[in-house]
Amino acid sequence: MFVIIGAGLAGAKAAAALREEGYRGGVTLIGAEHERPYERPPLSKGYLQGSSELEKVYVHPEGWYRDNDVDLRLGTAATAIDRPSREVVLGTGERVAYEKLLIATGATPRPLPFEGADLDGVHYLRTVADSQALKAAFAHGGNVVVIGGGWIGLETAAAARKAGCDVTVVEPEPTPLHRTLGAEMGEVFAGVHRRNGVDLRLGAKVARLAGDGHVREVVLESGEAIAADEVIGGIGAAPNVELARDAGLEIGSGILVDAALRSSDPDIHAAGDVAEAFNPLLNRRIRVEHWANALNQGPVAAKAMLGQDVVYDRVPYFYTDQFEIGMEFSGDIAGADDLVIRGSDLEFIAFWLREGRVIAGMNVNVWDVVGDIQKLIRNGETVDPKRLADPETPLAG
Ligand code: FAD
Ligand code: NAP
Repeated sequence: MFVIIGAGLAGAKAAAALREEGYRGGVTLIGAEHERPYERPPLSKGYLQGSSELEKVYVHPEGWYRDNDVDLRLGTAATAIDRPSREVVLGTGERVAYEKLLIATGATPRPLPFEGADLDGVHYLRTVADSQALKAAFAHGGNVVVIGGGWIGLETAAAARKAGCDVTVVEPEPTPLHRTLGAEMGEVFAGVHRRNGVDLRLGAKVARLAGDGHVREVVLESGEAIAADEVIGGIGAAPNVELARDAGLEIGSGILVDAALRSSDPDIHAAGDVAEAFNPLLNRRIRVEHWANALNQGPVAAKAMLGQDVVYDRVPYFYTDQFEIGMEFSGDIAGADDLVIRGSDLEFIAFWLREGRVIAGMNVNVWDVVGDIQKLIRNGETVDPKRLADPETPLAG
Protein backbone atom coordinates (compact mmCIF):
# COMPACT_ATOMS: atom_id res chain seq x y z
CA MET A 1 0.00 0.00 0.00
CA PHE A 2 1.39 3.38 -1.09
CA VAL A 3 -0.10 6.53 0.41
CA ILE A 4 0.22 10.06 -0.93
CA ILE A 5 -0.69 13.05 1.26
CA GLY A 6 -1.61 16.06 -0.87
CA ALA A 7 -3.87 15.74 -3.94
CA GLY A 8 -2.22 18.54 -5.91
CA LEU A 9 -0.10 18.36 -9.05
CA ALA A 10 2.86 16.51 -7.48
CA GLY A 11 0.58 14.01 -5.71
CA ALA A 12 -1.58 13.30 -8.78
CA LYS A 13 1.45 12.89 -11.05
CA ALA A 14 3.02 10.53 -8.52
CA ALA A 15 -0.14 8.39 -8.44
CA ALA A 16 -0.18 8.25 -12.25
CA ALA A 17 3.50 7.28 -12.38
CA LEU A 18 2.93 4.43 -9.91
CA ARG A 19 0.33 2.93 -12.26
CA GLU A 20 2.38 3.65 -15.41
CA GLU A 21 5.30 1.83 -13.81
CA GLY A 22 3.07 -1.22 -13.31
CA TYR A 23 2.54 -1.02 -9.55
CA ARG A 24 -0.53 -3.14 -8.77
CA GLY A 25 -0.84 -2.54 -5.02
CA GLY A 26 -3.13 -0.07 -3.30
CA VAL A 27 -2.68 3.66 -3.91
CA THR A 28 -4.45 6.15 -1.65
CA LEU A 29 -4.33 9.85 -2.52
CA ILE A 30 -5.44 12.09 0.36
CA GLY A 31 -6.51 15.67 -0.37
CA ALA A 32 -7.76 18.34 2.01
CA GLU A 33 -9.53 20.22 -0.80
CA HIS A 34 -12.88 19.15 -2.23
CA GLU A 35 -11.68 19.54 -5.84
CA ARG A 36 -9.90 16.68 -7.54
CA PRO A 37 -6.22 17.48 -8.32
CA TYR A 38 -5.77 20.58 -10.46
CA GLU A 39 -3.07 22.88 -11.80
CA ARG A 40 -2.84 26.35 -10.29
CA PRO A 41 -1.26 28.49 -13.06
CA PRO A 42 -4.61 29.22 -14.82
CA LEU A 43 -6.08 30.50 -11.53
CA SER A 44 -4.14 33.76 -11.87
CA LYS A 45 -4.21 33.86 -15.69
CA GLY A 46 -6.69 32.39 -18.19
CA TYR A 47 -9.29 31.13 -15.71
CA LEU A 48 -9.19 34.35 -13.66
CA GLN A 49 -9.49 36.41 -16.82
CA GLY A 50 -12.38 34.31 -18.08
CA SER A 51 -10.57 33.10 -21.21
CA SER A 52 -10.28 29.42 -20.16
CA GLU A 53 -12.69 26.92 -18.67
CA LEU A 54 -12.56 25.32 -15.21
CA GLU A 55 -12.52 21.86 -16.84
CA LYS A 56 -9.05 22.65 -18.26
CA VAL A 57 -7.38 23.02 -14.85
CA TYR A 58 -7.76 19.40 -13.74
CA VAL A 59 -4.78 17.05 -13.87
CA HIS A 60 -6.92 14.02 -14.85
CA PRO A 61 -10.48 13.52 -16.09
CA GLU A 62 -12.98 12.77 -13.33
CA GLY A 63 -13.15 9.01 -13.94
CA TRP A 64 -9.37 8.54 -14.11
CA TYR A 65 -8.93 7.80 -10.39
CA ARG A 66 -11.60 5.09 -10.38
CA ASP A 67 -10.40 3.63 -13.68
CA ASN A 68 -6.85 3.42 -12.34
CA ASP A 69 -7.85 2.09 -8.95
CA VAL A 70 -6.55 5.13 -7.09
CA ASP A 71 -8.45 5.66 -3.85
CA LEU A 72 -8.92 9.45 -3.96
CA ARG A 73 -10.06 10.81 -0.58
CA LEU A 74 -11.09 14.41 -1.10
CA GLY A 75 -12.10 16.87 1.63
CA THR A 76 -9.94 14.79 3.95
CA ALA A 77 -6.93 16.22 5.77
CA ALA A 78 -4.17 14.02 7.08
CA THR A 79 -3.56 15.14 10.67
CA ALA A 80 -0.58 13.00 11.70
CA ILE A 81 1.97 10.48 10.51
CA ASP A 82 2.47 7.66 12.98
CA ARG A 83 5.89 6.42 11.91
CA PRO A 84 6.29 3.59 14.44
CA SER A 85 3.04 1.96 13.27
CA ARG A 86 3.48 3.21 9.64
CA GLU A 87 0.05 4.78 9.48
CA VAL A 88 -1.37 8.11 8.37
CA VAL A 89 -4.03 9.51 10.69
CA LEU A 90 -6.92 11.31 8.99
CA GLY A 91 -9.12 14.10 10.33
CA THR A 92 -11.92 11.55 10.60
CA GLY A 93 -9.81 9.52 13.05
CA GLU A 94 -9.34 6.76 10.46
CA ARG A 95 -5.85 5.31 10.10
CA VAL A 96 -4.40 4.37 6.70
CA ALA A 97 -1.46 1.97 6.69
CA TYR A 98 1.46 2.60 4.34
CA GLU A 99 4.52 0.74 3.13
CA LYS A 100 5.81 3.87 1.40
CA LEU A 101 4.51 7.41 1.92
CA LEU A 102 4.78 10.53 -0.24
CA ILE A 103 4.23 13.96 1.29
CA ALA A 104 3.15 16.45 -1.41
CA THR A 105 1.30 18.97 0.73
CA GLY A 106 2.35 22.09 -1.20
CA ALA A 107 2.31 25.55 0.32
CA THR A 108 -0.10 28.07 1.86
CA PRO A 109 -0.21 31.83 1.22
CA ARG A 110 1.52 33.80 3.94
CA PRO A 111 -1.15 35.83 5.79
CA LEU A 112 -0.75 39.62 5.68
CA PRO A 113 0.82 40.61 9.03
CA PHE A 114 -1.06 43.89 9.29
CA GLU A 115 -3.87 45.30 11.42
CA GLY A 116 -7.06 45.06 9.37
CA ALA A 117 -5.98 41.96 7.44
CA ASP A 118 -9.17 40.19 8.61
CA LEU A 119 -11.49 42.75 6.96
CA ASP A 120 -13.86 41.61 4.22
CA GLY A 121 -12.46 42.21 0.75
CA VAL A 122 -8.97 40.94 1.65
CA HIS A 123 -8.10 38.06 -0.69
CA TYR A 124 -5.41 35.44 -1.16
CA LEU A 125 -5.01 33.26 -4.23
CA ARG A 126 -4.20 29.58 -4.01
CA THR A 127 -7.37 27.61 -4.76
CA VAL A 128 -10.12 27.44 -7.38
CA ALA A 129 -12.49 29.02 -4.84
CA ASP A 130 -10.03 31.89 -4.26
CA SER A 131 -9.83 32.49 -8.01
CA GLN A 132 -13.62 32.48 -8.34
CA ALA A 133 -13.93 34.97 -5.47
CA LEU A 134 -11.37 37.28 -7.10
CA LYS A 135 -13.06 37.02 -10.48
CA ALA A 136 -16.35 38.05 -8.87
CA ALA A 137 -14.64 40.93 -7.03
CA PHE A 138 -12.96 42.20 -10.22
CA ALA A 139 -16.34 42.22 -11.98
CA HIS A 140 -17.39 45.10 -9.71
CA GLY A 141 -14.46 47.23 -10.92
CA GLY A 142 -13.19 49.79 -8.41
CA ASN A 143 -9.84 50.04 -6.63
CA VAL A 144 -7.74 46.92 -6.24
CA VAL A 145 -4.62 47.15 -4.08
CA VAL A 146 -2.14 44.29 -4.40
CA ILE A 147 0.35 43.83 -1.58
CA GLY A 148 3.54 42.17 -2.84
CA GLY A 149 5.16 42.55 -6.25
CA GLY A 150 5.94 38.86 -6.78
CA TRP A 151 4.26 36.37 -9.12
CA ILE A 152 0.81 36.47 -7.53
CA GLY A 153 0.99 40.24 -7.23
CA LEU A 154 1.91 40.92 -10.86
CA GLU A 155 -0.32 38.27 -12.44
CA THR A 156 -3.39 39.34 -10.46
CA ALA A 157 -2.59 43.00 -11.17
CA ALA A 158 -2.63 42.21 -14.90
CA ALA A 159 -5.93 40.30 -14.58
CA ALA A 160 -7.52 43.11 -12.55
CA ARG A 161 -6.47 45.74 -15.11
CA LYS A 162 -7.91 43.60 -17.90
CA ALA A 163 -11.17 43.43 -15.94
CA GLY A 164 -11.21 47.26 -15.84
CA CYS A 165 -10.14 47.85 -12.24
CA ASP A 166 -7.82 50.60 -11.00
CA VAL A 167 -4.80 48.75 -9.67
CA THR A 168 -2.02 49.67 -7.24
CA VAL A 169 0.83 47.31 -6.32
CA VAL A 170 2.74 47.95 -3.08
CA GLU A 171 6.19 46.34 -2.89
CA PRO A 172 8.95 47.13 -0.37
CA GLU A 173 11.82 46.39 -2.78
CA PRO A 174 12.95 48.92 -5.46
CA THR A 175 11.54 46.73 -8.26
CA PRO A 176 8.99 43.94 -8.52
CA LEU A 177 10.46 40.40 -8.60
CA HIS A 178 13.62 41.86 -7.11
CA ARG A 179 14.84 38.75 -5.34
CA THR A 180 14.09 36.35 -8.22
CA LEU A 181 15.23 38.42 -11.21
CA GLY A 182 17.35 41.26 -9.80
CA ALA A 183 16.92 45.01 -10.37
CA GLU A 184 17.44 45.26 -14.14
CA MET A 185 14.97 42.55 -15.14
CA GLY A 186 12.59 43.58 -12.35
CA GLU A 187 12.53 46.99 -14.03
CA VAL A 188 11.40 45.39 -17.33
CA PHE A 189 8.33 44.00 -15.57
CA ALA A 190 7.79 47.34 -13.80
CA GLY A 191 7.82 49.17 -17.17
CA VAL A 192 5.22 46.86 -18.69
CA HIS A 193 2.92 47.21 -15.70
CA ARG A 194 3.25 51.00 -15.67
CA ARG A 195 2.50 51.19 -19.41
CA ASN A 196 -0.64 49.17 -18.75
CA GLY A 197 -1.84 51.59 -16.11
CA VAL A 198 -0.75 49.81 -12.91
CA ASP A 199 0.25 52.25 -10.17
CA LEU A 200 3.44 50.73 -8.75
CA ARG A 201 4.43 51.85 -5.27
CA LEU A 202 7.97 50.55 -4.97
CA GLY A 203 10.11 50.85 -1.86
CA ALA A 204 6.82 51.32 0.01
CA LYS A 205 5.68 49.46 3.10
CA VAL A 206 2.16 48.81 4.31
CA ALA A 207 1.37 49.91 7.88
CA ARG A 208 -2.25 48.74 8.19
CA LEU A 209 -5.53 48.16 6.40
CA ALA A 210 -8.54 50.21 7.43
CA GLY A 211 -12.28 49.83 6.86
CA ASP A 212 -15.73 49.47 8.31
CA GLY A 213 -16.11 45.70 8.18
CA HIS A 214 -15.05 45.81 4.53
CA VAL A 215 -11.59 47.10 3.61
CA ARG A 216 -11.62 50.75 2.44
CA GLU A 217 -7.97 51.75 2.38
CA VAL A 218 -4.39 50.54 2.62
CA VAL A 219 -2.31 52.86 4.78
CA LEU A 220 1.41 53.01 4.04
CA GLU A 221 4.15 53.59 6.62
CA SER A 222 4.59 57.03 5.00
CA GLY A 223 1.06 57.83 6.20
CA GLU A 224 -0.42 57.88 2.69
CA ALA A 225 -3.78 56.11 2.42
CA ILE A 226 -4.60 54.30 -0.85
CA ALA A 227 -8.29 53.73 -1.56
CA ALA A 228 -9.11 50.02 -1.74
CA ASP A 229 -12.31 48.14 -2.54
CA GLU A 230 -10.40 44.86 -2.71
CA VAL A 231 -6.96 43.89 -1.40
CA ILE A 232 -4.88 40.94 -2.57
CA GLY A 233 -2.16 39.54 -0.33
CA GLY A 234 0.72 38.20 -2.43
CA ILE A 235 3.62 38.20 0.01
CA GLY A 236 4.76 34.63 -0.54
CA ALA A 237 3.81 31.12 0.45
CA ALA A 238 4.95 28.89 3.31
CA PRO A 239 5.50 25.15 2.72
CA ASN A 240 3.09 22.85 4.56
CA VAL A 241 5.70 21.02 6.65
CA GLU A 242 3.76 20.63 9.92
CA LEU A 243 2.92 16.93 9.47
CA ALA A 244 6.54 16.12 8.62
CA ARG A 245 7.92 18.22 11.46
CA ASP A 246 5.54 16.65 14.00
CA ALA A 247 6.59 13.22 12.71
CA GLY A 248 10.23 14.08 13.44
CA LEU A 249 11.46 14.33 9.84
CA GLU A 250 14.35 16.69 9.12
CA ILE A 251 13.17 20.11 8.01
CA GLY A 252 15.11 22.98 6.43
CA SER A 253 13.25 25.54 4.32
CA GLY A 254 11.03 22.55 3.44
CA ILE A 255 11.13 18.80 4.04
CA LEU A 256 14.77 17.85 3.51
CA VAL A 257 15.11 15.12 0.88
CA ASP A 258 18.00 13.62 -1.08
CA ALA A 259 18.33 13.50 -4.87
CA ALA A 260 15.85 10.58 -4.95
CA LEU A 261 13.41 12.77 -2.95
CA ARG A 262 13.77 10.49 0.11
CA SER A 263 13.41 12.17 3.50
CA SER A 264 15.35 11.37 6.67
CA ASP A 265 12.97 8.36 6.92
CA PRO A 266 13.75 6.13 3.89
CA ASP A 267 10.08 5.07 3.61
CA ILE A 268 8.84 8.65 3.34
CA HIS A 269 9.42 10.83 0.29
CA ALA A 270 8.47 14.45 -0.44
CA ALA A 271 7.90 16.29 -3.73
CA GLY A 272 6.75 19.65 -5.07
CA ASP A 273 6.56 22.97 -3.22
CA VAL A 274 7.04 21.30 0.17
CA ALA A 275 10.34 19.55 -0.64
CA GLU A 276 13.82 21.00 -0.24
CA ALA A 277 15.68 18.56 -2.46
CA PHE A 278 19.37 18.01 -3.14
CA ASN A 279 19.81 18.75 -6.85
CA PRO A 280 23.02 17.08 -8.15
CA LEU A 281 23.19 19.48 -11.10
CA LEU A 282 23.31 22.51 -8.79
CA ASN A 283 25.23 20.56 -6.12
CA ARG A 284 23.03 21.98 -3.38
CA ARG A 285 19.59 21.74 -1.87
CA ILE A 286 16.87 23.90 -3.35
CA ARG A 287 13.14 24.30 -2.74
CA VAL A 288 11.27 25.34 -5.88
CA GLU A 289 7.70 26.69 -5.75
CA HIS A 290 6.80 26.24 -9.41
CA TRP A 291 4.63 24.10 -11.65
CA ALA A 292 7.33 22.16 -13.55
CA ASN A 293 9.01 21.10 -10.32
CA ALA A 294 5.78 19.56 -8.99
CA LEU A 295 4.98 18.03 -12.39
CA ASN A 296 8.35 16.30 -12.66
CA GLN A 297 9.21 15.55 -9.04
CA GLY A 298 5.97 13.60 -8.47
CA PRO A 299 6.93 10.84 -10.95
CA VAL A 300 10.55 10.72 -9.73
CA ALA A 301 9.34 10.27 -6.15
CA ALA A 302 6.99 7.49 -7.32
CA LYS A 303 9.80 5.65 -9.08
CA ALA A 304 12.04 6.01 -6.04
CA MET A 305 9.24 4.59 -3.86
CA LEU A 306 9.18 1.58 -6.21
CA GLY A 307 12.87 1.07 -5.54
CA GLN A 308 14.13 2.39 -8.87
CA ASP A 309 17.50 4.10 -9.00
CA VAL A 310 16.43 7.65 -9.92
CA VAL A 311 17.54 11.19 -9.18
CA TYR A 312 15.88 14.54 -9.75
CA ASP A 313 18.46 16.76 -11.43
CA ARG A 314 16.39 19.04 -13.67
CA VAL A 315 17.21 22.68 -14.27
CA PRO A 316 14.63 24.69 -12.29
CA TYR A 317 12.08 26.17 -14.73
CA PHE A 318 9.00 28.37 -14.58
CA TYR A 319 6.96 30.68 -16.74
CA THR A 320 4.60 33.62 -16.53
CA ASP A 321 2.21 35.61 -18.73
CA GLN A 322 1.52 39.25 -17.86
CA PHE A 323 0.11 41.80 -20.32
CA GLU A 324 2.39 41.62 -23.39
CA ILE A 325 5.05 39.52 -21.62
CA GLY A 326 5.27 35.81 -22.24
CA MET A 327 8.30 34.57 -20.35
CA GLU A 328 10.12 31.36 -19.43
CA PHE A 329 12.92 31.19 -16.88
CA SER A 330 15.52 28.44 -16.38
CA GLY A 331 18.09 28.09 -13.60
CA ASP A 332 18.68 30.21 -10.50
CA ILE A 333 20.39 33.63 -10.33
CA ALA A 334 22.00 33.05 -6.89
CA GLY A 335 25.65 34.13 -7.06
CA ALA A 336 25.35 35.77 -10.51
CA ASP A 337 28.09 38.35 -11.27
CA ASP A 338 27.14 39.35 -14.83
CA LEU A 339 23.99 39.84 -16.91
CA VAL A 340 24.07 39.49 -20.71
CA ILE A 341 21.14 40.52 -22.90
CA ARG A 342 20.52 39.10 -26.37
CA GLY A 343 17.83 41.05 -28.21
CA SER A 344 16.03 44.21 -27.19
CA ASP A 345 12.80 45.78 -25.95
CA LEU A 346 10.35 43.02 -25.13
CA GLU A 347 11.93 40.32 -27.29
CA PHE A 348 15.12 39.13 -25.69
CA ILE A 349 16.95 36.47 -23.74
CA ALA A 350 18.68 37.48 -20.49
CA PHE A 351 21.55 35.30 -19.30
CA TRP A 352 22.92 35.42 -15.77
CA LEU A 353 26.58 34.40 -15.54
CA ARG A 354 28.78 33.38 -12.64
CA GLU A 355 32.53 33.32 -13.30
CA GLY A 356 31.86 33.26 -17.03
CA ARG A 357 29.36 30.37 -16.96
CA VAL A 358 25.63 30.60 -17.63
CA ILE A 359 23.65 29.82 -14.46
CA ALA A 360 20.24 31.13 -15.53
CA GLY A 361 18.39 32.33 -18.61
CA MET A 362 15.09 34.09 -19.19
CA ASN A 363 13.47 34.19 -22.62
CA VAL A 364 10.92 36.97 -23.03
CA ASN A 365 8.67 36.64 -26.10
CA VAL A 366 11.34 34.44 -27.72
CA TRP A 367 10.23 30.83 -28.10
CA ASP A 368 11.67 27.33 -28.54
CA VAL A 369 14.95 28.22 -26.84
CA VAL A 370 14.51 26.66 -23.40
CA GLY A 371 16.29 23.46 -24.48
CA ASP A 372 19.31 25.44 -25.67
CA ILE A 373 19.36 27.67 -22.58
CA GLN A 374 19.20 24.66 -20.28
CA LYS A 375 21.98 22.96 -22.26
CA LEU A 376 24.22 25.98 -21.62
CA ILE A 377 23.41 25.79 -17.90
CA ARG A 378 24.00 22.03 -17.80
CA ASN A 379 27.27 22.18 -19.76
CA GLY A 380 28.72 24.64 -17.27
CA GLU A 381 31.34 25.72 -19.82
CA THR A 382 32.71 29.25 -19.90
CA VAL A 383 31.06 31.35 -22.59
CA ASP A 384 32.05 34.44 -24.56
CA PRO A 385 29.57 37.14 -23.41
CA LYS A 386 29.87 38.99 -26.76
CA ARG A 387 28.87 35.91 -28.74
CA LEU A 388 26.13 35.13 -26.22
CA ALA A 389 24.68 38.63 -26.76
CA ASP A 390 24.79 38.30 -30.55
CA PRO A 391 21.44 37.06 -31.96
CA GLU A 392 23.31 35.86 -35.10
CA THR A 393 25.39 33.37 -33.10
CA PRO A 394 23.52 30.08 -32.61
CA LEU A 395 22.83 29.30 -28.95
CA ALA A 396 23.49 25.60 -29.30
CA GLY A 397 26.75 24.50 -30.78
P1 FAD B 1 -0.11 22.13 -4.29
O1 FAD B 1 -0.52 22.46 -5.68
O2 FAD B 1 -0.18 23.22 -3.27
O3 FAD B 1 -0.96 20.88 -3.78
C1 FAD B 1 -0.86 20.41 -2.47
C2 FAD B 1 -2.21 19.90 -2.04
O4 FAD B 1 -2.04 19.25 -0.77
C3 FAD B 1 -3.25 20.98 -1.83
O5 FAD B 1 -4.43 20.65 -2.50
C4 FAD B 1 -3.47 20.98 -0.32
O6 FAD B 1 -4.79 21.30 0.06
C5 FAD B 1 -3.15 19.55 0.03
N1 FAD B 1 -2.79 19.34 1.45
C6 FAD B 1 -1.98 20.12 2.22
N2 FAD B 1 -1.92 19.62 3.46
C7 FAD B 1 -2.68 18.51 3.47
C8 FAD B 1 -3.00 17.55 4.47
N3 FAD B 1 -2.52 17.63 5.72
N4 FAD B 1 -3.83 16.52 4.16
C9 FAD B 1 -4.33 16.42 2.89
N5 FAD B 1 -4.05 17.31 1.90
C10 FAD B 1 -3.24 18.32 2.20
N6 FAD B 1 4.11 27.97 -11.22
C11 FAD B 1 4.67 28.15 -12.46
O7 FAD B 1 5.73 27.59 -12.74
N7 FAD B 1 4.08 28.95 -13.38
C12 FAD B 1 2.92 29.60 -13.14
O8 FAD B 1 2.43 30.32 -14.00
C13 FAD B 1 2.31 29.43 -11.86
N8 FAD B 1 1.15 30.06 -11.57
C14 FAD B 1 0.59 29.91 -10.33
C15 FAD B 1 -0.59 30.58 -10.04
C16 FAD B 1 -1.16 30.47 -8.78
C17 FAD B 1 -2.43 31.20 -8.49
C18 FAD B 1 -0.53 29.69 -7.79
C19 FAD B 1 -1.14 29.60 -6.41
C20 FAD B 1 0.64 29.02 -8.06
C21 FAD B 1 1.21 29.11 -9.34
N9 FAD B 1 2.39 28.45 -9.67
C22 FAD B 1 2.95 28.60 -10.91
C23 FAD B 1 3.03 27.55 -8.70
C24 FAD B 1 2.53 26.10 -8.85
O9 FAD B 1 1.15 26.09 -8.99
C25 FAD B 1 2.96 25.30 -7.62
O10 FAD B 1 4.36 25.25 -7.60
C26 FAD B 1 2.35 23.91 -7.64
O11 FAD B 1 0.97 23.99 -7.47
C27 FAD B 1 2.93 23.03 -6.54
O12 FAD B 1 2.31 21.79 -6.59
P2 FAD B 1 2.27 20.83 -5.31
O13 FAD B 1 1.55 19.61 -5.77
O14 FAD B 1 3.61 20.74 -4.72
O15 FAD B 1 1.39 21.61 -4.24
P1 NAP C 1 6.58 35.46 -4.15
O1 NAP C 1 6.81 35.26 -5.59
O2 NAP C 1 7.54 34.91 -3.15
O3 NAP C 1 6.47 37.04 -3.98
C1 NAP C 1 6.16 37.67 -2.78
C2 NAP C 1 6.49 39.14 -2.93
O4 NAP C 1 5.98 39.87 -1.83
C3 NAP C 1 7.97 39.41 -2.98
O5 NAP C 1 8.24 40.41 -3.93
C4 NAP C 1 8.26 39.87 -1.56
O6 NAP C 1 9.42 40.66 -1.46
C5 NAP C 1 7.02 40.67 -1.28
N1 NAP C 1 6.77 40.87 0.14
C6 NAP C 1 7.16 40.10 1.19
N2 NAP C 1 6.70 40.62 2.35
C7 NAP C 1 6.00 41.74 2.01
C8 NAP C 1 5.28 42.72 2.75
N3 NAP C 1 5.17 42.66 4.09
N4 NAP C 1 4.68 43.74 2.08
C9 NAP C 1 4.75 43.80 0.73
N5 NAP C 1 5.43 42.92 -0.02
C10 NAP C 1 6.03 41.90 0.62
O7 NAP C 1 5.17 34.89 -3.69
P2 NAP C 1 3.71 35.13 -4.29
O8 NAP C 1 3.78 36.05 -5.43
O9 NAP C 1 2.86 35.44 -3.12
O10 NAP C 1 3.33 33.70 -4.84
C11 NAP C 1 2.91 32.65 -3.95
C12 NAP C 1 3.30 31.31 -4.52
O11 NAP C 1 2.67 31.09 -5.78
C13 NAP C 1 4.77 31.17 -4.76
O12 NAP C 1 5.10 29.85 -4.48
C14 NAP C 1 4.92 31.42 -6.24
O13 NAP C 1 6.05 30.77 -6.78
C15 NAP C 1 3.64 30.81 -6.76
N6 NAP C 1 3.24 31.44 -8.04
C16 NAP C 1 4.05 31.28 -9.11
C17 NAP C 1 3.70 31.87 -10.32
C18 NAP C 1 4.59 31.69 -11.50
O14 NAP C 1 5.53 30.91 -11.44
N7 NAP C 1 4.30 32.34 -12.62
C19 NAP C 1 2.54 32.61 -10.42
C20 NAP C 1 1.75 32.76 -9.29
C21 NAP C 1 2.11 32.18 -8.11
P3 NAP C 1 10.79 39.91 -0.96
O15 NAP C 1 11.17 38.97 -2.06
O16 NAP C 1 11.74 41.01 -0.78
O17 NAP C 1 10.45 39.18 0.30
